[in-house]
Amino acid sequence: MPKFTLLILPGDGIGPEVMAEVRKVIDWLGRRRGLAFDVQEDLVGGAAIDAQGVPLADATLAKAQEADAVLLGAVGGPKWDGLPFAQKPERGLLRLRKEMDLYANLRPAQCFEALADFSSLKREVVAGLDILIVRELTSGIYFGEPRGIFTEGNERVGINTQRYTESEIARVARTAFELARRRRNRVCSMEKANVMESGVLWREVVTAVHARDYPDVDLTHMYADNGAMQLTRRPKQFDVIVTDNLFGDLLSDLAAMLTGSLGMLPSASLGAPGANGRPTALYEPVHGSAPDIAGRGIANPVASILSFAMALRYSFDAGDEADRIERAVGAVLAAGGRTADLMGPEGGTPLSTAAMGDAIVAALDAGAG
Ligand code: NAD
Repeated sequence: MPKFTLLILPGDGIGPEVMAEVRKVIDWLGRRRGLAFDVQEDLVGGAAIDAQGVPLADATLAKAQEADAVLLGAVGGPKWDGLPFAQKPERGLLRLRKEMDLYANLRPAQCFEALADFSSLKREVVAGLDILIVRELTSGIYFGEPRGIFTEGNERVGINTQRYTESEIARVARTAFELARRRRNRVCSMEKANVMESGVLWREVVTAVHARDYPDVDLTHMYADNGAMQLTRRPKQFDVIVTDNLFGDLLSDLAAMLTGSLGMLPSASLGAPGANGRPTALYEPVHGSAPDIAGRGIANPVASILSFAMALRYSFDAGDEADRIERAVGAVLAAGGRTADLMGPEGGTPLSTAAMGDAIVAALDAGAG
């Protein structure tokens, strides 16, 4: 069987530090599980500006488009803050998302038992939580026309337009149904069909796609404001939530924070399935390049390692290996392994970035997975 190809773009700040730990897990899978990847590495963001003069070279973009999945660390930092907007490191990431047409943003909210007390909600509400929010990323009110600030009579008016085509709704709905089949087979679609025509169309199209191609998946609908309430009241009732760009922006932040530290949060952005059936895919931690701690070897690599686990589950049909990695992370946390960002008031000695990566590999070795 041909090896899957992975393009790693470590980027800036703590990006290269956390990606070095992901490499350890990738190597472990090749060594111990016979799942070897053809891994390439390249530059993005400030690192690419310094070496190549642009935040994403055309050749790097071409490699990203050819790879089975891209793993990105983080981009940006004070060194490049003075550059004009169009030349900033972040433009590299935006260009990747645009050119790869990554229209579905996946944000899981997963609560490890050992970290349940970190949540602002009660332990029993969040312990064991595992939900996935699929947010439409390339349309809706952030892109719709007309937009702008106009003068009407003797005052100004600010306008944004919520606009969705049937095909834009259908493709993100498909993504959600496909993902649900790899999980607990349930999708809850959220909109505001009670007050918005775009919500009425959203509900109609999701229902039609479901009836036509995914009748085996359990589909429910919920108004997004009720969804926000339910996410804080009883989040474990959900498996996959699919929603538009604006509601997804709010609901995914809300859901992510149910589970605590930024250093723990993975994400993925998916595009259309290619000829091989796999979607174009970019996996990255939610956090940025953390210039305040970069170079000190104290960043938490778990968000990046869990992003790789998402790649295994959603790009490589290796959900059992993803489970194994997630269980190994859980075992390290349960044994008290903590990077500095996860230290509670009880104190203790934090693990370095490398020691956390080693502990996860040791847990994999010990069969914790
Ligand atoms: P940030 O996520 O980099 O950091 C916010 C805070 O969280 C900092 O105190 C940082 O030390 C801490 N933190 C983040 N990740 C951590 C980890 N893995 N382990 C331990 N602590 C962690 O956000 P910011 O400070 O607003 O932005 C810094 C730079 O990153 C900026 O240049 C910004 O543009 C960029 N950024 C990039 C991305 C991305 O690449 N996707 C996302 C957000 C911000």
